[in-house]
Amino acid sequence: TPASPTTVDDAFLRAWALPATPSDGDKEARGHVLILGGSAEMPGAVILAATAALRAGAGKLTIATGASVAKLVALAIPEARVIGLRENKDGGFTRDATAELNPLADRVNAVLIGPGMQDEASTAALVRALLPRLDGTSVVLDACAMGIILNPDLAPQQRPFRFELPVVVTPHAGEIAHLTGTPKQEILAQPEMHAARAAEQWNAVVALKGARTLIASPARSIWQHEGGNIGLAISGSGDTLAGIIAGLAARGATLEQAACWGVALHARAGDKLAERLGTLGYLARELPDEIPALMESIA
Ligand code: AMP
Ligand code: MG
Repeated sequence: TPASPTTVDDAFLRAWALPATPSDGDKEARGHVLILGGSAEMPGAVILAATAALRAGAGKLTIATGASVAKLVALAIPEARVIGLRENKDGGFTRDATAELNPLADRVNAVLIGPGMQDEASTAALVRALLPRLDGTSVVLDACAMGIILNPDLAPQQRPFRFELPVVVTPHAGEIAHLTGTPKQEILAQPEMHAARAAEQWNAVVALKGARTLIASPARSIWQHEGGNIGLAISGSGDTLAGIIAGLAARGATLEQAACWGVALHARAGDKLAERLGTLGYLARELPDEIPALMESIA
């Protein structure tokens, strides 16, 4: 059984300040994020994640998304460089996407993969091909991209899957149930244990999301954050959280720190919106706008 979690509150965050950005720095110094995701049916997910990464303070953003939606995404996020990747018939990307992404991999500080991706098989293959190129980069895997853990192409001796570089994964209870083959009810009954075990097995920071979110590290630390409100249970909410975490990581936060800070900022953004608009009915796209002021008020 893991140690009882450390609570992420204001005092905790203040004592673990985000890395300072030099006031004479340029946009490179503020960190470059690459977001890989989006499909013809869900181009909005990358737009949400991208906005969140910029609102979390990253200086530069590249988006790699489906060629059929690249122009639309570029118009929605004028700050980004947008690369259109060839799509397969299942709404995923073809294998040659790796060749296009490889040169980028060396130039970015954080990579978020998964928002709006739909084809588990091609996504797992792409993530697997890309990961070895991301040494020295902070990697955030959400949604479909976490499927690499269950990649059907892995030989039995390659299981259970272990990451070989710093990665944070952001499953909700249903997703960690799927990834660990454990009934969701068991996850909900003992979330600390399952988050800690997954972090250790996968060698990843695991943010197990819910009304209470647990963040477990492979070094056996565990944190909890309770807060936010039911308004956060809305389509696109997780995409904004993943974007915030990637943005903070690009600025130089460790993955553990980016996850703890990201979860807290995301929940507080929800609280701000609930105060202003009401708890039910604010939108995921409204969450990122709250982040800059919140970062200053906590710091
Ligand atoms: P996802 O399911 O991937 O869209 O992510 C949902 C996000 O909303 C996660 O960050 C959850 O922690 C958060 N969330 C969902 N339901 C609640 C709730 N009832 N109270 C607070 N946060 C929630
Ligand atoms: Mg999600």
